[in-house]
Amino acid sequence: MNVHRKERNIVRLCNEALDEPLDDVERHSMISAAARKLEELFDILRIDHENDHNTRETPRRVAKMFVEELLQGRYTAPPRITEFENVEAYDQLIVTGPVELRSMCAHHLMPIYGSAYIGILPSADGKIIGLSKYDRIVNHFSSRLQIQEELVKQIGQYIVKTTQPLGLAVRISAVHMCKTQRGVRASHRSRMVNSYYWGSLSSSPELKSEFLQECLALDRGNLG
Ligand SMILES: [Zn+2]
Repeated sequence: MNVHRKERNIVRLCNEALDEPLDDVERHSMISAAARKLEELFDILRIDHENDHNTRETPRRVAKMFVEELLQGRYTAPPRITEFENVEAYDQLIVTGPVELRSMCAHHLMPIYGSAYIGILPSADGKIIGLSKYDRIVNHFSSRLQIQEELVKQIGQYIVKTTQPLGLAVRISAVHMCKTQRGVRASHRSRMVNSYYWGSLSSSPELKSEFLQECLALDRGNLG
């Protein structure tokens, strides 16, 4: 990793991707450098990572987990989207969910977990993407240090950009462990819900309420 790239990384927000995905060499050197810093952190916290059999491999394990799992949405390219032409010119609302959502809060590095629901009103000359791609998109943008207000927008804007629908809605309902495990130690049932609306889903109250009703039905596992 050269100095130039290092400098550019600093101006990236924690939930933005780097200019280019890391290649294997850069990824491995990032893991090694992070592992060394975690060893230092353990030293400061007086956790013995050399003799304690429980923590001997932990700095490296944690470094690898950050780079290859928890934050991998910053270091990899967004999922490849297989697009289908909307040949039948389908123009009714499609709602999919719950999509499993797992992320990490930018303020405390604590898990955020819950569900996402996505509503799409396709346009006749736009694209339709395979349903499993929505799960991959949610996973990609969640695998960064996030705040839920920005995560919901990033997911929505990426789907708009790749599929050019007439309308789009994304709704997230999630538990923030920085509020349940620490701080006020709120109930694990305490969730944060927010939505992003675009195009006709933003301007039409009828479409919005149809979307919200489908979210409720999907949440209950009600096949309607
Ligand atoms: Zn937090």
